[in-house]
Amino acid sequence: MSPAESSHDVLVIGGGPAGSCAAARLRQHGLRVLVAEKCAFPRFHIGESLLPAGNRVLAEIGALEKVAAGGFIPKFGAEFHRADGSQAKKVVFREGLVPGLDRAFQVERARFDALLLDHARALGAEVRMETTVRSLEREGAGYRAVLADGGGEQAVTVPWVIDATGRETCLMSEQKRALEPSPFPKRMAVFSHFHGVARAAGPAGGNIVVVRLDGGWFWSIPIDAERTSVGVVTTVAGFRAAGLSPEAFFQRAVAAAPKLRELLGRATPTMGFHVTSDYSYFRRELAQERLLLAGDAAGFFDPIFSSGVYLATWSGKAAADLVARAHAGGRDLTPRERRAYTRTVKGHARVFQGLIEAFYDEDAFDVFMTDPVPCDISRGLISIVAGHARLTWPLWWRFRAFLLICRLQRHWKIVRRPAAPATAAVGEPVAG
Ligand SMILES: Cc1cc2nc3c(=O)[nH]c(=O)nc-3n(C[C@H](O)[C@H](O)[C@H](O)COP(=O)(O)OP(=O)(O)OC[C@H]3O[C@@H](n4cnc5c(N)ncnc54)[C@H](O)[C@@H]3O)c2cc1C
Repeated sequence: MSPAESSHDVLVIGGGPAGSCAAARLRQHGLRVLVAEKCAFPRFHIGESLLPAGNRVLAEIGALEKVAAGGFIPKFGAEFHRADGSQAKKVVFREGLVPGLDRAFQVERARFDALLLDHARALGAEVRMETTVRSLEREGAGYRAVLADGGGEQAVTVPWVIDATGRETCLMSEQKRALEPSPFPKRMAVFSHFHGVARAAGPAGGNIVVVRLDGGWFWSIPIDAERTSVGVVTTVAGFRAAGLSPEAFFQRAVAAAPKLRELLGRATPTMGFHVTSDYSYFRRELAQERLLLAGDAAGFFDPIFSSGVYLATWSGKAAADLVARAHAGGRDLTPRERRAYTRTVKGHARVFQGLIEAFYDEDAFDVFMTDPVPCDISRGLISIVAGHARLTWPLWWRFRAFLLICRLQRHWKIVRRPAAPATAAVGEPVAG
């Protein structure tokens, strides 16, 4: 099979949020873009709760109005609960330090991802659905890719590649082999969509609800008037030790936690239970001379703070901007640009990593749940939870102070945990 010289400047692999944003942005820069997406859309995808900071990216690529008109549920904040119902914390985005981050959307990803990909198409990207990129090799000044669809295989050569293939892909390039050691134990999620999950009245009904259990947590995300996405996160070791089917594990965790019984007492699943595991990782290098990784293809941490789609859209846009600049100069990405991209994407992700570590740590979680966190830290934390991961000085010192108080809490109990009956670990049987 001799490769066809593609008339495109950039091959974007994957039509999820990272790929769509990259493609739309490349079109705004006037580049010729080919998107290869292995699935037919609309397709199910987990990751339904968006962050306010993501609206800025959507606005920059010209898609925010379409999303706002898409009938998605507005999300004005987040709620965190202890499983025994002894403590709750409400985060209201508009009370944050950074203006303009007052709302986001809860989305059914099948519709949201299709909308974004259609937007890239409307801007002039050529989108080939049900087309899998099977292999990718350096050739000349660019890459040779083998694309497979129902009609067979075709090889194309392109000067630039943005790999936005997400977490579950077989496509490996040299760059994707080196992984950084994960700071987290191997975790997994069991999830489904439900009818009949209890919601707050009024605008707060659009909030994400996070319920923390010993060794895990639950999410509840309203995705339309009737359906709610609910999932439980636990360690792979804990799930294996329970020796249950995913559904039985899920139901037993619900039965063990008063807060979950309150939310899910009348709920019935509208589809089967999905399982995904082992999802925290980061690639060592995120850019080469002519290729960038964006979104989950670059890395992904635990989804507690709903950072995935924001990081995917933001990195997709950033990757497109870099490609456009180098392409206009007729050159490769410089080592400095490559390092800066890797550093910036990981820098954003590390802010969420700090929050995630605090969530799983008993003492730090006590501090997080205090309302308000002392020293005017709360307003900064709200903006970070809203996705403002670029830490300007007012956010930076508050975040550092929060992490410091969390460390001090280990030795001196600065904040008090409410007295509560012991909660069962995820999947443990309910006593009695
Ligand atoms: C349990 C769980 C819960 C989550 N909850 C949230 C949440 O509430 N909020 C949030 O923001 N994020 C959440 N996330 C993360 C979120 O799902 C991802 O970060 C997000 O989907 C990343 O977007 P992406 O475009 O990088 O990848 P994807 O959305 O996975 O898109 C990748 C696309 O590439 C295509 N593809 C793959 N390989 C190939 C190939 N070889 N050729 C062609 N196409 C290919 C795939 O078909 C897919 O459409 C969650 C993740 C998990 C695991």
